[in-house]
Amino acid sequence: MDKKDIVRVRLAPSPTGYIHVGNARTALFNWLFARQKGGAFILRVEDTDLERSRAEYEQNLIKDLRWLGLDWDEGPDIGGDYGPYRQSERLDLYHRYARQLLEEGTAYYCFCSPEELEQERQTALAQGQMPKYSGKCRTISLGEARSRLAAGKQASIRLKVPETGTLAFDDLVRGRVEFDLKLISDPIIVRSNGMPAYNFAVVIDDALMSISHVIRGEDHLSNTPKQILLYSALGWKLPAFAHLSMVMGKDNTRLSKRHGATSVDQFRRDGILPEALSNYLALLGWSPPEGHEVLKLEELITLFDLERVSRSAAIFDYDKLYWLNRQHLKLLTAKEKLELALPYLQEADLVGPKLSQGQSQWLEKAVDLLIEGVDKLSDLPQKFSLLFDFEPEKLDEEARKIVEAESARQVLRLFSQKTASLKDFSYELFADITGEIKKETGIKGKDLFHPLRVALTARASGLELDKFIPLVEEGSKLNFPRPVKSCLQRIKEFSAFLNL
Ligand code: GLU
Repeated sequence: MDKKDIVRVRLAPSPTGYIHVGNARTALFNWLFARQKGGAFILRVEDTDLERSRAEYEQNLIKDLRWLGLDWDEGPDIGGDYGPYRQSERLDLYHRYARQLLEEGTAYYCFCSPEELEQERQTALAQGQMPKYSGKCRTISLGEARSRLAAGKQASIRLKVPETGTLAFDDLVRGRVEFDLKLISDPIIVRSNGMPAYNFAVVIDDALMSISHVIRGEDHLSNTPKQILLYSALGWKLPAFAHLSMVMGKDNTRLSKRHGATSVDQFRRDGILPEALSNYLALLGWSPPEGHEVLKLEELITLFDLERVSRSAAIFDYDKLYWLNRQHLKLLTAKEKLELALPYLQEADLVGPKLSQGQSQWLEKAVDLLIEGVDKLSDLPQKFSLLFDFEPEKLDEEARKIVEAESARQVLRLFSQKTASLKDFSYELFADITGEIKKETGIKGKDLFHPLRVALTARASGLELDKFIPLVEEGSKLNFPRPVKSCLQRIKEFSAFLNL
């Protein structure tokens, strides 16, 4: 392959917080594109905002991206031929190119103070105009500017934007995009504290790192003309651009904490599987051709198509994510399910830190049964209350109604009598006894089994009794911090509760 055809894409996060689903989707689309094209995916950390950037956020985002199943070919943690991969370690480069632009006259020093600029802005707004930098310092010669700097004055550096004309480019997602240059202020490329501005550093890095495709969020669309002007001022070839629509909540506002979890870290803690999250993120604005939706990363690599990414806003649908999570949970073995579930059960103090072999075998069965229909693993301890909590006094309305019927009391009285002298219980005994009750009373079906379900579980619904009874019987013989009550004990307590 010719070098110019090599796909090189990047994710350029600022380490100022936890990685949000929007950025995670951008990461995934870049990664899928690189892996599909046999190209390179690069992680570059944009840490020039000294006040907000933190090393621990960089570590977190690396951890979160790896958890999602992504890997990169170059990055701050693994190095590479185009490093360094942290902008804070590339300041010399930015200064070198800023000097070049100053000397060529395409950039200039600006001595306007923040107060003056704010004043200018307010005046424009008061007149109903779009605020735009006046260009006041454009005419200061480089020589003059240098002597002002030598005299201790502070200055930023700005790029000169042509005053008229349009700038257009073809975006791979959005199609042709045009900007009226008249509306674009001369952007600051280096701040008065010597730090490069985002628009400048990103261009230097993308160009020097030979990035072929810039795939990023649409919130950067308005920055793109400024970046294109910088490419041309530096005489560099443009990369291709693809701007991904924003991720919105169902109410059409930008996805935020108001809508629910939004960071990868939160989804992980909630017990969403990484394969479910990456599957869901891939479907945010992109749909696979054949319409099948439960896809693993390897399948996504083959099917993904940047050309089929939609330009309309992607709506984050938590129910769809949970549905995918349930589908991916189903693909796991019982042993894998237990491994994932254990921290949640321990956190809820349902099981201790060390498990006996019997306990872990039992838990494996219990998790496998109870995980059915669970949206996320953090909901599992609540499901386990079916086994660990038996509180007749907390019956809900529905359950109470079931056991209040006269036929229900009759069934329960008989069941209680027939089990009173038993030492042990099993589903077979349950089937025999209910068979006898049916014969003796003529009560059958729902009227027979519903009251018994309520008596054994203190709930109106739950697992099928042929699964529940053996599970509880086995569990009651194991030493859990919160003991599992046996069926016979449950019946005794329930009969006492009902005064049978
Ligand atoms: N640091 C920018 C961000 O996190 C990068 C944008 C880009 O990809 O150019 O939004």
